[in-house]
Parts: sequence; C-alpha cells; structure tokens
Amino acid sequence: MSSSTNISDNTMINTSKNLIVRHAIDWALAHGLNYRVPLTFTSSTQAIPEPIKYAATHAPFALFPAPFPKICFQKAKDLQPIYNELFHSISKDKEFLDAAVKSLGNSDNFITNLYDIYQKVQNEGLAQKITFGIHRSDYMIHNKNNEQTLQQVEFNTIASSFSSLSYLTSELHRYLAKRQIYPESCKIDEKNIPFNNSFLSIANGIAKAHELYGVKDAVVVMIVQPNERNAFDQRWIEYNLFEKHGVKLIRKTLAEIQQEATLEGPDKKLMINGQEISVAYYRAGYTPNDYPSDIEWQARLKIERSKAVKCPNIAYHLSGTKKIQQMLAVPGNLERFIKDQEKVKFIRSSFTGLYAFDQSESSKEALERLTKNPDDFVMKPQREGGGNNIYGKDIPPFLSKLSEKEKEGYILMDLIRPEIQESTIVRDGKADDFKVISELGIYGIYLSDNNDKPVINEQGGYLLRTKSSSSNEGGVASGYGCLNSPLLQ
Ligand code: ADP
Ligand code: MG
Ligand code: MG
Repeated sequence: MSSSTNISDNTMINTSKNLIVRHAIDWALAHGLNYRVPLTFTSSTQAIPEPIKYAATHAPFALFPAPFPKICFQKAKDLQPIYNELFHSISKDKEFLDAAVKSLGNSDNFITNLYDIYQKVQNEGLAQKITFGIHRSDYMIHNKNNEQTLQQVEFNTIASSFSSLSYLTSELHRYLAKRQIYPESCKIDEKNIPFNNSFLSIANGIAKAHELYGVKDAVVVMIVQPNERNAFDQRWIEYNLFEKHGVKLIRKTLAEIQQEATLEGPDKKLMINGQEISVAYYRAGYTPNDYPSDIEWQARLKIERSKAVKCPNIAYHLSGTKKIQQMLAVPGNLERFIKDQEKVKFIRSSFTGLYAFDQSESSKEALERLTKNPDDFVMKPQREGGGNNIYGKDIPPFLSKLSEKEKEGYILMDLIRPEIQESTIVRDGKADDFKVISELGIYGIYLSDNNDKPVINEQGGYLLRTKSSSSNEGGVASGYGCLNSPLLQ
C-alpha cells in the first residue's frame, strides 16, 4: 500500500495541482458539497447579518482519494448487519441497559436525564413498537508490523452526519478520475472508488419507516440544532425523500417542538401545527449543549412518549454510549446477544482493548500499562460529537484529579494506530499538504415492524474522514478533518 500513498507528492508540478484544485472547488460548489460559513457571531442576542447568514462555502475535502485496503473495506460492510442486529437486541434488554447506567454511578447528569426518559416511557408503555436506527460504525485500520486490522472506534446510534457530503465527495473524486483531470501518474482509477449510496439508503430507510407508520399524509420531522452549519448534508436527505419517495420533511429545533407540538388522542399522535408526524429523525439531541434548559428535555420526553417512529428511540440512544461499547468487550456479553458463535467471533475481531475503571483484572492490567505507556491509550466520557476525549500523556494527570466515583463515568481504550499517509486538504479555497490518518464509517439501516420483525437490515454506504496525524480528533467542521473517499487496493 505504501507505494501509492504519496499521491499528492511534489512530483506533480504545482500548476497542474492548482488546476485540479480549481476544478474540484467548482464541482463542490456547483453540486452542494457545502456548508454554511463559520459564524463569528456567537452571541444569541446579536442578529446574524443577512449576507453571512446565507453564505455557504465548500466543505473541506481531500483532493485525492485515500488508498484503502479492499479487504478491510469489505469486512466493515459485512460486519454492519450483524452490528445492527446486536444494537437492536441491546436496546430491548432493559436489564443490560439498567446495569450500564448503574455502573456509571450517577456520575453523569446527561446520561441520568436520558435514562429518566427511558424509565418514564418504559413504565408508561411504548406508544410505538416500530424501531428505526440509522447508525454509523466507525473504524480505523490498526497498522502493526505491516499487518493491517480493522478496529472499531465507536458505534453511533444517533444523529450520524455526513452521509450526503460523503456521497458527494466520492462523486467528486470519481469525476476527477473519469475526466482524467488527475494526471496519469496518480494512477487513480474511478472503478476503485466505490459508489456510495449513503444518503440514498438513509432517505430510503426514512421512507420505509414512514410507510410502516401507515398515514400517507403525515410528515417527517428532522430535529435540528439552531444555526446548523451542516444543513446541506441534511437537506440532501430531505430533497431525496421528497423527490424519490414523495414524503415531506420539516425541520424543528427541540425548543420549537416544545412550543408547537402536541400529543393527540389516546394513541398519542405527535402533531405539529395540525400535521401528524410519522418519523422523528434526530440530527440534534446527542450533546448536553442541545439541552440548554428544561424546555429541550421536555421536548425530548414529548417525542419519546408519542406514537411517532423515533430515529433513534431513547433505548437506541442509550445503547450507543461508550459504556455499552466497553461492556460488550467483557467476555460473555456478546454471547448474551448473539447466539451464532461465528458471528460472535467476527464481531469480536473488530474490537480493540476496552476497559472500565473498575476492579476487574483487565482494568488493573490496563492501568499498569497506562502508567508505563500512556501514549497507547485514549480515555472517553459518555459524550458524542467530537472533542471530548483525553489522550496519552494527558490521561494520568487528568485521572489523578478524579474521585473513584467520577472515574466510573469514563472508559479507557487502546489507541488505534493507522498508517500515516500524505494528503492534500482543500479548505476555504486553499490546498495544503498534511500527514494524515483516516477513519472509515459504515452507515447501518435497521427497521423493524410492530412485531419486531426486521424490515430493513443493511449496510448503507460509507464515510471516510481524514485528519492531520498531529491532531487527536478530526472534526470536519472544527478545523482539522476533511471528507475523503477510499481508493480500494
Ligand atoms: P465521538 O463520539 O465524540 O465522535 P469518538 O470515540 O469517535 O467519539 O472519538 C473521537 C475521535 O477520537 C475519533 O474520530 C478518532 O479520531 C479519535 N479516537 C477515538 N478513539 C480512538 C482510538 N481508540 N484510537 C485512535 N483514535 C481514536
Ligand atoms: Mg460518536
Ligand atoms: Mg466519532
């Protein structure tokens, strides 16, 4: 693989590279590979000037697709339906979810609030039995002694983003290859960049969930953050849902839901301004920042109590916590959910070391290693959305400030070390070269009907994100990460 990892190297004369950059940026702008320009107006009391409010720019992308081992890509796709089933089973296992939350020891208000809602609806009885997950399982390729293994970073069950922009990025790379804008010497064959059906499979899943709900004139609500920068990624789903499936989608923030939505009738139909809601699809609600007051929590509870199909429901949300991921690595727990030993082995082969801060042997062993080699670890709280982890040498001093009780809210994980590649990242119209590593996400769509019978269980396309190898995290919007696509080899 290393022979072709330097696609962007200096052998290419700058003028030809500039030409590719110009082609790529215009293709991106013309096709909606965009997000809103960053807002420097953070004060909620200060109105955003109109020209800025409506200005968009291209999302950051890698100029060339990243070489990626075909076998690992295929494995990630093959794992997805099994992971979908696994997380569905976890979401139905109250005992397991109770144990997970309990082991966090009330250390985390956000999780406690989610769990409160979970318990309320469990006690009340579910108004909707259809379950619907749009997941994304994220991986890196651990590179040790030239052996490459696919290892899971995390499993997301709520608000997985970038399906549309990742589709567009792969289409951009395929276009540049097909039109031979990439020079011959790059050896980028369009056939080795897999077609990405990501946002199509998500829109298709939503349409199917809407159909199962059974009210043709109902609409889908996407729960969004106020001033969402990544709105075009979301809009592509909305447009496809309407154009291909004839289903309308409206956008509401949690605060708007609390103000405008009501529950109607004994079956608790979710109504917004006279319209019945079939599916509530969350693209917000995964971080404490999305709940600045009790109003947002009330909105979350209202949706959860309703008859609308939730994507995800609160049990799915809780199942996607890092604590659950760590618990699955404890011997015996995978077997609780998966009876087929071959599948258990297959799933387990994608795990890296995961540890709790408890008295188990594996934790003690990990803590010993941590003392000697802190750079082999990452520590994670129960949070989503990037920027929350503690890395390497920062872990021991961070740990020393926590009480035993507080430690229970975190997990410890072996650091995955992917091969370092070279890449040209185009951001804000400028192309710069970086040493990078990449993270593959595979979307998973799971829909089951009233009788818990699976209607859809599939992998739904991919996301490849690339970040500078010198930065710990790679948020695309936050500055270091960018969208990419795999060049299979
Ligand atoms: P979040 O839910 O906030 O996205 P993640 O578990 O995905 O949390 O961590 C954020 C980022 O941190 C990942 O995208 C990856 O870049 C890095 N990271 C997380 N876990 C590991 C790991 N075990 N090895 C290497 N990098 C990791
Ligand atoms: Mg996550
Ligand atoms: Mg992540």
